[in-house]
Amino acid sequence: MPKTEASAPALCSRCDKPLDTEGSPQWCKACRAAYQREYQGLKKQLSESRGYAAGCSAMRDRLARMFAQWPSARLSGAEIASRIMREPDPGAAELPPFQG
Ligand SMILES: [Zn+2]
Repeated sequence: MPKTEASAPALCSRCDKPLDTEGSPQWCKACRAAYQREYQGLKKQLSESRGYAAGCSAMRDRLARMFAQWPSARLSGAEIASRIMREPDPGAAELPPFQG
């Protein structure tokens, strides 16, 4: 007897295997688990990227404030590089609020 559309098993919309879950999205358990792993990985990567960008921004602000103290100074590239390299890394207190 041919299957009718109503009796056909529901399939996962990601992998086309039989659907073993209910609700939306119509994904099987394996696809839902894979999605969660991917999502957590991307969330961690995004968090690290935001932290790096916040650190760069804080360091740029610190260096701009330092050089603004000497508006008429004539500094060589070597002197500027030396001053920059002597600056400590920005402390956590200088970082903008985390937007995780
Ligand atoms: Zn699936």
